[in-house]
Amino acid sequence: MGLNSEAERLLAGRWIAGERISDAIRVAKRLNDDGIAAIINYLGERHTDEKKVRSTVKEYSKLVSSIEKSFVKADIALKPTEIGLAIDEGEFVRNYTMITRLALKHKVFVWLDMEESEFVDSTMRAYMIAVKKRNVGICIQSYLKRSEGDLEELLSHKAIVRLVKGAYRPKGREFYSSSGTDRNYVKLMRILFERGDRFTIASHDARVVEAARRLNSRYRRDVTYAMLEGIRMDYAERLAGDGEKVSIYVPYGKEWAAYSYRRFRELGSLKLVARSLLGG
Ligand SMILES: Cc1cc2nc3c(=O)[nH]c(=O)nc-3n(C[C@H](O)[C@H](O)[C@H](O)COP(=O)(O)OP(=O)(O)OC[C@H]3O[C@@H](n4cnc5c(N)ncnc54)[C@H](O)[C@@H]3O)c2cc1C
Repeated sequence: MGLNSEAERLLAGRWIAGERISDAIRVAKRLNDDGIAAIINYLGERHTDEKKVRSTVKEYSKLVSSIEKSFVKADIALKPTEIGLAIDEGEFVRNYTMITRLALKHKVFVWLDMEESEFVDSTMRAYMIAVKKRNVGICIQSYLKRSEGDLEELLSHKAIVRLVKGAYRPKGREFYSSSGTDRNYVKLMRILFERGDRFTIASHDARVVEAARRLNSRYRRDVTYAMLEGIRMDYAERLAGDGEKVSIYVPYGKEWAAYSYRRFRELGSLKLVARSLLGG
């Protein structure tokens, strides 16, 4: 998959910090200045080349030490298939365990992103091994019908959950439709408020975020609102200005295409493309 037109390159540039760790740290510092934390991801997915997996693990080792050294407020987010899950579950678990141990030493929190539905079981299994460490969180997708059961299981282990709608081409009976996904998001969010202590509402959908804020005036949980770099940043800044905890997902690296195409798909209409190019 390549980025073809100039417009596509320009847009992708809004969503991605740059190619190097220093680029991600620079963006994290800028966010921190506005009272916003970062969640840094090194771009890459579905690696089937062991060398690439090894170099990705090395990159995360450097990243956690850079975060500590530069005093930025930033978590990291790993895609299971960039650290070995597309090759072998054991390899993934070993790499995940290694990175979480190192991150703990450097006082960095580690999120496990959730990818295509075929990887959910193994991602959940790896997280359950690490859950007691307390510096680890996991993403749950409301477009998946199984997610309510997964969330119940995670909450019974006091997991730290980041709730999203889901980004990987939902096709088949295991997925909700778009309106079903939105309804399920609100349902899962209510479960989080009723039974969770600390969790992240990751969405740019103002209806969802404002509903969460209303719920939190009743439940008083430790809630963070999270968005993606380059999308609705004005809203993120407003939330931080109102005293909410806010995080921005900041990807960096050379493998821009897969991540950017998911964002292009979500952009959807020409009106949104134009607004995004103009800085909205
Ligand atoms: C912090 C964070 C982490 C994430 N981690 C994962 C993960 O691990 N796994 C996963 O499957 N998904 C993940 N996602 C992506 C998520 O699943 C959705 O695909 C994405 O957030 C869009 O859904 P939405 O909730 O913003 O709602 P939507 O209904 O898609 O969008 C709501 C509104 O946001 C604006 N908007 C949305 N996308 C764009 C865009 N590209 N450009 C400009 N405006 C836009 C529009 O105004 C739109 O109407 C993550 C999202 C966030 C914010």
